[in-house]
Amino acid sequence: MEKRRVTSKEVTEAALRLLAERGVTVKAIAEIVYEMQSPYNKGLTIDDCIESVEKVLQKREVQHAILVGIELDKLAERKMLSEPLQTLVETDEGLFGVDETIALGAVLGYGSIAVTTFGHLDKHKIGIIKYLDTKRGQGVHTFLDDLVASIAASAAGRLAHNFRDEEERKETEIMQEKEEAIS
Ligand code: MG
Repeated sequence: MEKRRVTSKEVTEAALRLLAERGVTVKAIAEIVYEMQSPYNKGLTIDDCIESVEKVLQKREVQHAILVGIELDKLAERKMLSEPLQTLVETDEGLFGVDETIALGAVLGYGSIAVTTFGHLDKHKIGIIKYLDTKRGQGVHTFLDDLVASIAASAAGRLAHNFRDEEERKETEIMQEKEEAIS
């Protein structure tokens, strides 16, 4: 059988469509990023955070995690999983950690700041994560809350690294100007 090659455009579109379908907007994720990153990054704007979230959503690992997680949430909603997985996912069983594991896997490409931010968000659910986590009886979001935390944490880690690079670039420029003034 000839294997069909899935295009990256197809995966990107599916991931974005699934998030929208589950009521998660880029803006809502960006608001979490802003809350996490603004104390360390003076002058950070919500637009910076939106841009960072959009960049993270272009990553294949992140898109794949979204496809897997949301699919399982949807199947659990329709009671289509086999037992005992059906009950584990549907009730968001505390010891079932696969939702966190998949989400954590997706942040690893963004460095240790993203990992620690993910841990923080997993513990202190804020913004739309809290909303999804407490939206009992209205759909299954066992995987989605962790995916949102993962995207937000990656976007925050990305901003932290870019902010430092920008600072260093400015410092180098100032140094060069001083050297030129002396010579
Ligand atoms: Mg969860």
